[in-house]
Amino acid sequence: MKSVRVVVVGAGVVGFSTAVCIAEALPFCSVTLLAEKFSPDTTSDVAAGLLFAPKFPDIPLERQRHWFKNSFDHLLAISQSQHSPDAGVMLSSGWQIFKDVPADKTPFWSEFMIGFRFMTDSELKLFPGHKFGHAFTTIKCECSTYVPWLENRFRKAGGHVEQRKVYSLDELSSSYDLIVNCSGLGSKTLVGDEQVYPIRGQVLKLEAPWLQHFIRAGDGMTYIYPGRDGVTAGGTRQEGDWRLHVDEDDTKSILERCSRLVPSVSKAKVLSKLVGLRPTRKNPRVERELVQLQGRRVPVVHNYGHGGWGVTLAWGTALDALGLVRQCLHEMPLQAKL
Ligand code: FAD
Repeated sequence: MKSVRVVVVGAGVVGFSTAVCIAEALPFCSVTLLAEKFSPDTTSDVAAGLLFAPKFPDIPLERQRHWFKNSFDHLLAISQSQHSPDAGVMLSSGWQIFKDVPADKTPFWSEFMIGFRFMTDSELKLFPGHKFGHAFTTIKCECSTYVPWLENRFRKAGGHVEQRKVYSLDELSSSYDLIVNCSGLGSKTLVGDEQVYPIRGQVLKLEAPWLQHFIRAGDGMTYIYPGRDGVTAGGTRQEGDWRLHVDEDDTKSILERCSRLVPSVSKAKVLSKLVGLRPTRKNPRVERELVQLQGRRVPVVHNYGHGGWGVTLAWGTALDALGLVRQCLHEMPLQAKL
């Protein structure tokens, strides 16, 4: 019999990654995932889904390296397996280009990428006005396919899924022994976190099958990422902007900037326009606490605030969150585990 009742709030790439990790590793737990919105209506569905990594200021680099490496290894294994088309996970090769040579020419994640090297002069000639660049193979993880694939994996591991908005963690305290919060931007109200805020991103899906390489401007503002069902062209980074509708000025600006990098983009057909709000925080919150709910101290594990890097870091932080869940279970009074 399943003895510990765990609830995961959130059905984006972080919520489902975390739910799968817990359900598969801890068969004595009954795991339920609750969320207001599911694919295709989450931020994760908008993500371009290319694996890069940022550097968060207050998290030890070793921990960030683990997050990135664990995610990369997990997705690389899928990309090289028969599951690749069903999961929407594939290799992607291309260039990151800079107008000025960056201070950190060899970012920490470079050792995990396949074939990472500096661009040659003949490659740089393809992008006039750019002085430096990285060439490498990474992974593209298309969440509108990958998250439903994870949901299937979660259900196979015995997980339950329920559509529901949670207004307060109090609502969950009588039905569950442990709460895992993967509510992204929703954490602003759900757990009153004033540090989490949106960075609005708009992208276009283009029909341009002749484009085969990813191209990313070093400042992250302009990118062209070929994928399974079209090319993702971006982007925007509007801090504190909650607008979820398409802005046609942004559409124009994205097409202009991308065409400047690759002139044939101007010939591409625009298939769709998407907007998402990156759940941003100075540092993602992957930690545990005991919260007083309805007169009971309930363990809560948080895993949210990945900003523009949630696809890249989802599996790595999910494994970290699983470790925190194990610690909570270890400390739980015996009767809760019986
Ligand atoms: P979400 O996908 O937003 O999911 C949050 C979930 O919590 C939803 O199911 C929601 O309904 C639920 N929820 C919230 N509050 C409540 C509540 N009170 N009750 C019940 N449910 C609740 N990342 C990369 O790594 N690589 C990229 O190339 C990349 N490109 C991007 C491009 C754009 C334009 C954008 C917008 C983002 C991009 N990202 C990228 C970032 C990535 O999309 C996010 O980091 C990631 O989707 C966050 O996932 P999440 O599961 O935390 O949040």
